[in-house]
Amino acid sequence: MSNAENDSKVKTIFGKEKNPSSIEPKKLTLDSPLKFRCHPGVRCFTACCGGIKIVLTPYDILRLTKRLDIPAHEFLHVYTQPTYLEKTDMPGVMIKLREEDNKCPFVTPEGCTVYTDRPTACRYYPVGMADFHEGGSRDADGKEVQSAEEKFFFTVREEHCKGFEEDKEWTIREWRADQGVDVRDEMNKEWLRLVMRRKSYGLQATLSEPAKRMFFMASTDLATFRKFIFESSFLETYELDQETIDKIREDDVELMLFSFKYLAATLFGAQALKIKEDKIKAKVAQIKERQDEAVQQSVKEYEELKAETAKQKAATGIKKQ
Ligand code: SF4
Ligand code: SF4
Repeated sequence: MSNAENDSKVKTIFGKEKNPSSIEPKKLTLDSPLKFRCHPGVRCFTACCGGIKIVLTPYDILRLTKRLDIPAHEFLHVYTQPTYLEKTDMPGVMIKLREEDNKCPFVTPEGCTVYTDRPTACRYYPVGMADFHEGGSRDADGKEVQSAEEKFFFTVREEHCKGFEEDKEWTIREWRADQGVDVRDEMNKEWLRLVMRRKSYGLQATLSEPAKRMFFMASTDLATFRKFIFESSFLETYELDQETIDKIREDDVELMLFSFKYLAATLFGAQALKIKEDKIKAKVAQIKERQDEAVQQSVKEYEELKAETAKQKAATGIKKQ
């Protein structure tokens, strides 16, 4: 199956635009009823694990690398392929399906082999949530400007999925708690906000290549991001308290959450990180020095031009005599 075909079947974390034909046109709340059950006894068991696009969040990658006990670079190489996130120029990864059967590499006839660490998109299915930035969005100072309770949900009802024929009834809230999506939402939300923010800018304003590389590295490979923090001039540049430094040195989740702040600061100028006063002064001095050099250079060029003109005039005068 081609990528385009994969796109038509999407376990999505990015809201309601994808796969519109199978989205039920009904706005659901956390208390809306849901008649659905997925278990190994359904006729379609694992049918949703093939021919599909599953985009991974940084937390998905963190959990899967721990589960498989392999470094991120190996995980990325073996189990993923590059993609762009939600119609933006932000690079990300999606699960690379097996060549032989176009299925997820973690699926077996008995089910998902990474079930307790399965990606966010797999946990959502078949209940999607409207765009994250619509729920609990914040202003530039980080103040909540829209209640997270205003978010809404929808179901994706695909032909192959027979879970809707099962008898189990619960609320969307209960389904989400059962699937563990609330924790995932908390872990993913600042990263999703970055993507949604980028999306809202449109493709006119493109990200620079170094910015793309930094976004990709921080989003997919925490070990390399940690090296960047501790083995570059990062800590000399940014104001970080000792507690934060200790946390991000030891704790991968803290490091991941910190990386979102760093990306918000570098990609969108958010005030999440403060550059050290002496670094700002040094930068200002450097700019001033460059400006001074430029002024001196133009004064020099002007003086040379003046001297040259005077020389030519004198030469012309001599000739006339
Ligand atoms: S990770 Fe698990 S649940 Fe998700 S598509 Fe693969 S096998 Fe299915
Ligand atoms: S019931 Fe739906 S979610 Fe469960 S295995 Fe079948 S297709 Fe997948």
